[in-house]
Amino acid sequence: MIYPNEAKLSSPLIFDSHAHYTDSKFDEVRDKLIPELFKSGVCYIVNCSVDGSDSRNSLSLSKKYGNLYSAVGIHPENLDSNTKIPEIRELAKHNKCVAIGEIGLDYYFNSENKEEQIKVFEEQIILSKELNLPIIVHDRDAHADTLKLLKRHKPKGVVHCFSGSPEMAREILELGMYIGVGGVITFKNSRKLPEVVDVLPLDRLLLETDCPYLAPEPLRGHLCHSGLIPFTAQKIAEIKEISVEDIYKITTDNAKKLFNIK
Ligand SMILES: [Zn+2]
Repeated sequence: MIYPNEAKLSSPLIFDSHAHYTDSKFDEVRDKLIPELFKSGVCYIVNCSVDGSDSRNSLSLSKKYGNLYSAVGIHPENLDSNTKIPEIRELAKHNKCVAIGEIGLDYYFNSENKEEQIKVFEEQIILSKELNLPIIVHDRDAHADTLKLLKRHKPKGVVHCFSGSPEMAREILELGMYIGVGGVITFKNSRKLPEVVDVLPLDRLLLETDCPYLAPEPLRGHLCHSGLIPFTAQKIAEIKEISVEDIYKITTDNAKKLFNIK
């Protein structure tokens, strides 16, 4: 287990805009880890959900930890959970729910149920607009269809773990949306993402982990958590040629604005 001090956290400035602390990989460490994170550099976490039952678990965690907020929704890999939209609508009314997510399209995981994925994604985009909540978008190998739906509905939100081209990033920015950048930026084979970060206006950038997955270098392959964000932020700071502290400050302000956290 890697604890946050190993990532050299200094001040409580970090907003992790995308985590999955309900994942069973955290079962053994969750209760010890989360308070530790809030004591050592992390100021807010948005915990994302993958189906109805996960959304309820996330809201329970949110009740336990004041600065841990929840996104509720149906992930494209979890359509067989049979979670229905009215259930998400009810859960989204919780006072610690700040977004609908994570939702989107994943043609890498399954390209045979594209129509169903599009239907569930679109229904949740419409729900987010009805509830005036931002969305947290998952797009894997589905750039064209994702962009088509975002352009059609123009929701508020963030495209998390962005994997598109600088051109796609420009289209996302034109829609007023944010771009989430996580540990992938530190990977040696990361080519497009540094180009995207280079052209990305700082006021549209969010930091994230997608933990327990995608731990940044030099801890790639380990259990990821919000305390490892400094490795990601350091890399972004180098590309943007500003201090890491400024990256924390700007991305935290961005996330508080998007998720309407006062
Ligand atoms: Zn995720």
